[in-house]
Amino acid sequence: VQPSTNHSSSKSDRGQRIEYLTKIPRSVNLESLQNGYLFPEISIRESEYAQRNPHARLIKLGIGDTTQPIPDIITSAMAEQALALSTAQGYKGYGPEQGNRELRRAIAETLYQGMPVKENEIFVSDGAQCDISRVQMLLDASLSIALQDPTFPGYADSSVIVGRAGRLNAGSGKYKRIVYMKCEPENNFFPNLSKTPRTDLIFFCSPNNPTGSAASRQQLEQLVEFAKTNGSIIIYDSAYAAYISDESPRSIFEIPGAKEVAIEISSFSKFAGFTGVRLGWTVVPEELVYANGYPMIRDYDRIVCTCFNGASNIVQAGGLACLSEEGFEALKRTMGYYMENAKILVETFESMGKKVYGGKNGPYVWVHFPGLSSWQVFNKILERAAIVTVPGIGFGPGGEGYVRVSAFGHRECILEASRRLTKLLLK
Ligand code: PLP
Repeated sequence: VQPSTNHSSSKSDRGQRIEYLTKIPRSVNLESLQNGYLFPEISIRESEYAQRNPHARLIKLGIGDTTQPIPDIITSAMAEQALALSTAQGYKGYGPEQGNRELRRAIAETLYQGMPVKENEIFVSDGAQCDISRVQMLLDASLSIALQDPTFPGYADSSVIVGRAGRLNAGSGKYKRIVYMKCEPENNFFPNLSKTPRTDLIFFCSPNNPTGSAASRQQLEQLVEFAKTNGSIIIYDSAYAAYISDESPRSIFEIPGAKEVAIEISSFSKFAGFTGVRLGWTVVPEELVYANGYPMIRDYDRIVCTCFNGASNIVQAGGLACLSEEGFEALKRTMGYYMENAKILVETFESMGKKVYGGKNGPYVWVHFPGLSSWQVFNKILERAAIVTVPGIGFGPGGEGYVRVSAFGHRECILEASRRLTKLLLK
């Protein structure tokens, strides 16, 4: 497509006829993005399969979307808040951009109990994905970054969009300016920090998506120490923290000194089934300051006030109900249901002789298929068992040879998937 003329009979990359071209060049950062976002690519393959096999009963254990109903006590609180908006006394317009005080306090008192996190350091949002982008906006594009490999693709992709990642090396699948910290069974899914070069920013997800592994206290102490020695910032994603079943910390702020080097992003999506409702939060500690001594919390506040006008008041009422004693107990039952699914999946793959990781501190099962590419395994499981998984390579080069299987799903689907997989006896 030549941008020199506004009238053209060219074709787009999807084969549609283009009648008119603007004079706007495409952002070089967006041009550097690898092959489209992972999950849309999976959806395309899934719908192509469904078209070719219209009678197949597809089981979706791919995208980590929650499936179980939200407990009544939580939806009733949202309904009540919605109805109140129709009354003169109950109507509310814009709320504080940082979130309602009651909810910020409840997050501090319940999820950060015993930690030095204050309510004014909590910024309520419409989800962790959006907060990852807001945090990217906070930090200069010239800063260098390190990521776990494999990990949630949002960190790399949002870094590319803001121009922090450099060019993609198609051969290695790595961006030039990103440091990939290999996390594999051999190092207990925790990077070898003695061999990790210094970067300005370190994205760290625990429990990790896709491996399901949670970093131990000792490992997180090492991470905080590493950041402190280097004057770096950790951007810690604890979206799956509520699934931790052992002694692993549920927040980076369980580690002494972390407030000077870390921002934490989290979400109601996975523990409360709010993937469609949308609610999350970010903690920016007062102690976190730039090289010139200016507090980052003030800049983050500016970003939130400028680029976001606060989460829906209906949803925040739901969030508050999630954190009530009764609400949280009900959510624990739903999380227990998903973790029982995870157990079934782990046993299924183990019975097939596969090496399986995760499924204990997070709702994902990470299965190794040595000798096959992860897209080959994805295709094989889709074609032969009509089950959608996620190819490990979508989470970084270190995910090659693995697939991620989500434990979010109805029990009948998980049991049916287990039967199909056992029959398939994948080698
Ligand atoms: N962080 C991690 C590690 C995730 O796995 C996901 C979603 O899958 C998100 C963030 C996005 O969460 P939210 O729904 O709050 O945007």
